[in-house]
Amino acid sequence: MVIDCHIHLMPHPGETQAQAARRTLAAMDRLGIDKACVSLGDRLIVQPNATELREQNAWVASTVALAPDRFIGFVYCSPNHPELSLELIEEYAVRGGFRGIKLWVCQLADHAGNDAICRRAAQLGLPVLAHTWVKVTGNMPTESTPDHLVTLARRHPDVNFIMAHAGGDWERGLRTVRHVPHIYPDTCGNDPEAGFTELAVALVGAERLVFGSDATGRSFASQLAKVTGADITDDQKRLILGDNLERLMPA
Ligand SMILES: [Zn+2]
Repeated sequence: MVIDCHIHLMPHPGETQAQAARRTLAAMDRLGIDKACVSLGDRLIVQPNATELREQNAWVASTVALAPDRFIGFVYCSPNHPELSLELIEEYAVRGGFRGIKLWVCQLADHAGNDAICRRAAQLGLPVLAHTWVKVTGNMPTESTPDHLVTLARRHPDVNFIMAHAGGDWERGLRTVRHVPHIYPDTCGNDPEAGFTELAVALVGAERLVFGSDATGRSFASQLAKVTGADITDDQKRLILGDNLERLMPA
């Protein structure tokens, strides 16, 4: 079972939602990707207001409804709107079958507004997929590095966090979270550089690495190849490609 922990269904210009879903599913079929976790919305909004946060989650719900056996929803939450985020968790995870939470770039990961969201995640056993990056050109002021995620994770030892992009600068990001066992780096969003997966397995172990692509922003093939082409065992590949994530999500 191959599960992609990290995609966004964002239509190309002129494409409908159903067409974008069909294109995405066709690519998944071609590459043997069984399921994909969908988050955010139809476009990137750095600072979503309450209405936009509702709309973005509704977009993911209607995407999942197009192929409920293939797409898994993650609730897009915002520490700027903690009360609304808790409502959205009830609507989409408790009642709607979404199986994780997504935090993006509207505030740093260690923002106090994330605490209520993480407490609810702990109660429900939902993994929290959190964006991280270290940019040589400088991050956005509210864009987390792995260090911000470590601060949040230490406040919430009962939550499993998926560290999106392994920190972008993965040689640094993997080392930053090496000794924080409830942070699981994902494989996605970087250029497909040789050595990434091998180093991740050496530093955090195959049990803590989770396959993701960041499609539509990246291709499934380039990101999948980081794992399938890595110099690791088939058992390790199985863990990374699906077994770890299946273990992290509620049924
Ligand atoms: Zn992403």
